[in-house]
Amino acid sequence: MTRSADLPSARLLIVGPQGSGKGTQGVRVGEALSIPVISTGDVFRANVSAGTPLGQQVKAIIEAGDLVPDSLTSEIVRDRLTQDDASNGFLLDGYPRNLGQVGDLDAFLESRSEALDAVIELSVPREESIARLTQRALEQGRTDDTEEVIANRLAIYERETAPILDVYRERGIVDAIDGVGSLDEIADRITAALAARGITG
Ligand code: ADP
Repeated sequence: MTRSADLPSARLLIVGPQGSGKGTQGVRVGEALSIPVISTGDVFRANVSAGTPLGQQVKAIIEAGDLVPDSLTSEIVRDRLTQDDASNGFLLDGYPRNLGQVGDLDAFLESRSEALDAVIELSVPREESIARLTQRALEQGRTDDTEEVIANRLAIYERETAPILDVYRERGIVDAIDGVGSLDEIADRITAALAARGITG
């Protein structure tokens, strides 16, 4: 999908803990705004499934729920953002995930005289998040959805990812969205918050 150049730019992040539903909502936002959705987790999983060199490099890291090194992750994102369909907008899901990656993304965007337009912060209580992940584990059988690995991923989220929101809050670009409700209700909240910034499809 390519966002036409006569619309305002829509360079977006969606941030939230595991089980917040950010993947699902991110895809909806991408469709509504005609922007590509780039999920670093999906990129890594696709490479693991296909057995590529990248996949072999990251398989054990993902299965432990640890973070892939910043240099590798940021390079993958930069390559993807350089493609034509991301020229006037994109939604990043799962990146940046720590302050180092925030710096990498800032440097990349600045080098292109671009900036983020909004950061969607999807909040769900911890118990709800764990309940959803446990359900997903039953349905999808993701190898990183075991109890121990889920706990590690949530701990990393709280320690390393939640602080990135402070940086973006200071820039005034964070929209805090309540992630509890029906999929349509949550999508409507996100649409309204983006529209208030002049970002529409
Ligand atoms: P979740 O948010 O449920 O943990 P993701 O699909 O976003 O799932 O990520 C799955 C795994 O991929 C992470 O646990 C991590 O190993 C790796 N990963 C994804 N995005 C990043 C990133 N930005 N930096 C480092 N590792 C990442």
